[in-house]
Amino acid sequence: MSLAELQRIESERVIGSYARMPVEFVRGEGALLWDDEGNEYLDFLCGISVTSLGHCHPEIVAAVREQAGRLMHTSNLFYTEPAMRLAERLSSSSLGGKVFFCNSGTEANEAALKLARKARRGGKVVVLEGAFHGRTYGSLSATPQEAKQAPFAPLVPGFHAVAAEPAALHGAVDGDTAAVLLEPIQGESGVHVLSDQLLGAARAACDEHGAALIFDEIQTGMGRTGTLWAYQRSGVVPDAMTVAKALGGGVPIGALITGARLADVFAPGDHGSTFAGGPLVATAALRALELTDDPALLARVQELGAELSESLASLPHVLEVRGRGLMLACRLDVPAPALARRALLEQRLVLNATGPDTLRLLPPLTIGSEQLRDGVQRLAAALAG
Ligand SMILES: *Cc1c(COP(=O)(O)O)cnc(C)c1O
Repeated sequence: MSLAELQRIESERVIGSYARMPVEFVRGEGALLWDDEGNEYLDFLCGISVTSLGHCHPEIVAAVREQAGRLMHTSNLFYTEPAMRLAERLSSSSLGGKVFFCNSGTEANEAALKLARKARRGGKVVVLEGAFHGRTYGSLSATPQEAKQAPFAPLVPGFHAVAAEPAALHGAVDGDTAAVLLEPIQGESGVHVLSDQLLGAARAACDEHGAALIFDEIQTGMGRTGTLWAYQRSGVVPDAMTVAKALGGGVPIGALITGARLADVFAPGDHGSTFAGGPLVATAALRALELTDDPALLARVQELGAELSESLASLPHVLEVRGRGLMLACRLDVPAPALARRALLEQRLVLNATGPDTLRLLPPLTIGSEQLRDGVQRLAAALAG
């Protein structure tokens, strides 16, 4: 089918909640994508930090193929080995408690919110201005952005947004607070790194009042920032965290991971999902986690991130580079959405704009140095064009 035909079907038959770029991708390998006419693109977006090990990683493809031919789904009424092995690996690589599986990032946050409220028998949830936690009602209520929330009122009550400053955060947490929910690096709002001081203040406020500190590591997790989980670099350990995006190596899976304190809050019947943690996605995620939890790969992410950040800072029209590891953003003095479109259509470089002046770069963690430099050159050409 031609692109024009796909666009006709979309306009007639697909609910218009996305603004798509006029490109049809048909194949991917590593950091490369190909469109329906055989043109090659360099991917600096990874499907928004999902295919972080590159497209169609051969070991993930092999594991999925094998599992697909053996058993795809049974429901959580029964045991399967991939889910249990994945839970064990996720817990031991992070907070050491227990895991609840789901199918996406927003669902992981829904689970975290229910868990925190049950642990506290109610209570408010404190979130930060600029946060993004998802699009379903609980996580949307935790996403204090007027344009995303306003059309869908009334929202879930009991959410309280404060400025991302230690004093404001400390002042907002009290004996009636169930949880503080935050992204260690705010992704969707433009890659804003929260200071260690702010994370420390959140930890202290939660400790003082018995609230749960929950990190949304849906975008920052799975090696994206140069450590397996972003919290590991800060030294501030949350009581629970949510992961998704790159967890499945390209297939949809999310998880809530707790520390010891919150491990036994849910009882049978409290929460669930038909698809969650099925053998197909759990097999993919286990392989993705094993491949990512590799000191050599993580060190390389830090190296490449430093190199990329430096190269970006020297480009014309780049006013500021923010981020950590291979989760980076550039603030531009030209409109970012038009630049992203030009980079895609004229330079065949895939990246996205998170706002009117901000470009986000999320290249594969497995990208080669040559490809990284090639991407910077394509971006420079788009900026010059
Ligand atoms: C993408 C994202 C979400 C939502 O994940 P979905 O899988 O799209 O529901 C939540 N929080 C953060 C930080 C994200 O980056």
